[in-house]
Amino acid sequence: MPGIEPARLKPGTRVENIPRLGNEASGGRETHVLSGRALVFWNPSVPGAKRDAIDTDQITPAADCVSESLETLDERWKAGSFRHLMPDFREPPKLRSHGPARIIAMCNQKGGVGKTTSTINLGAALAECGRKVLLVDFDPQGALSVGLGVPTYELEVTIYNLLVERGHDVRDVVQHTSMENLDIIPANIDLSAAEVQLVGEVAREMVLARVLRPIVDDYDVILIDCQPSLGLLTVNALTAAHGVIIPLECEFFAMRGVALLVETIDKICDRLNPRLQVDGILATMYDSRTLHSREVVRSVVDHFGDLVFHTVISRTVKFPDSSLAAEPITTYASTHSAAEAYRQMARELIARGGAA
Ligand code: ADP
Ligand code: MG
Repeated sequence: MPGIEPARLKPGTRVENIPRLGNEASGGRETHVLSGRALVFWNPSVPGAKRDAIDTDQITPAADCVSESLETLDERWKAGSFRHLMPDFREPPKLRSHGPARIIAMCNQKGGVGKTTSTINLGAALAECGRKVLLVDFDPQGALSVGLGVPTYELEVTIYNLLVERGHDVRDVVQHTSMENLDIIPANIDLSAAEVQLVGEVAREMVLARVLRPIVDDYDVILIDCQPSLGLLTVNALTAAHGVIIPLECEFFAMRGVALLVETIDKICDRLNPRLQVDGILATMYDSRTLHSREVVRSVVDHFGDLVFHTVISRTVKFPDSSLAAEPITTYASTHSAAEAYRQMARELIARGGAA
């Protein structure tokens, strides 16, 4: 099967105008499928046929560019046979020494977009790569803590006490998880009072940064699981952070509110934390069977370009299942494609310089 020469495709080429690749003699025809960022061409009737991918930045796919054989393609996609079409995010080198940590806030003021799930599983995947990871539960719901098996109601001291009381040692509040290299500072409903209590503090936006300072050198990455609001707690997370990852659920109103979030990040960068940057946008709960999901990814990529991670997290019941089991997906369903997706996300983040 003839390959595509991406160089022949000018930016903005519409998919209808891409030369047909079907080979009558082989009895097959070309097929294409959108996989996050890449448009994939491939003749499914030729065993072992070469597959070519073009970055969607280079073309403008037509809305109807998805072929009828998508079901089969998607099965193969799920089976991982397209994985090599992603940029090759290699196994990162082992670290010889640890710290100081890069601090990343997982932030979106919309609830249910995959912040907590991404914090747990990206954290676990980074820990698998030998990175020392600290997760900070910064949502009074405590879903991050519960999701890693921390009995939140029995806790005497949590992030709340570190924020509003003097005299605690942050190391006494850090808990080890069942995974090597993965620690957590838990939270529970007490944290909901902090927002009000901190209002009268001097430098009230910098309290979390101060709390984390003594342990920054102990870790390679600190991930903060923000609550779904842009209130003072989230402002504290953004002030403590070097980077922000914005998880976006692949549904129609995904981008609603993102402009406000970006504006908030800009303001914090201006006034409180000049080092803050957006590390990337992570598309979550992607359902490859729906045109809808694909359109959302496409519009997010149209809008944010390279800020969108190549890694896309699919929708699967394994995530709620693993939360119930209080384990990261990387141990709960270690070989599942969803576990592999967060491993790839970890490698991509490291490759982009978002983590050591
Ligand atoms: P947030 O922290 O942004 O509110 P969560 O990570 O808690 O979002 O996710 C909300 C719900 O969706 C949870 O029940 C979680 O288990 C589920 N979930 C998260 N990611 C996925 C996914 N990729 N596929 C299916 N369910 C998911
Ligand atoms: Mg959450």
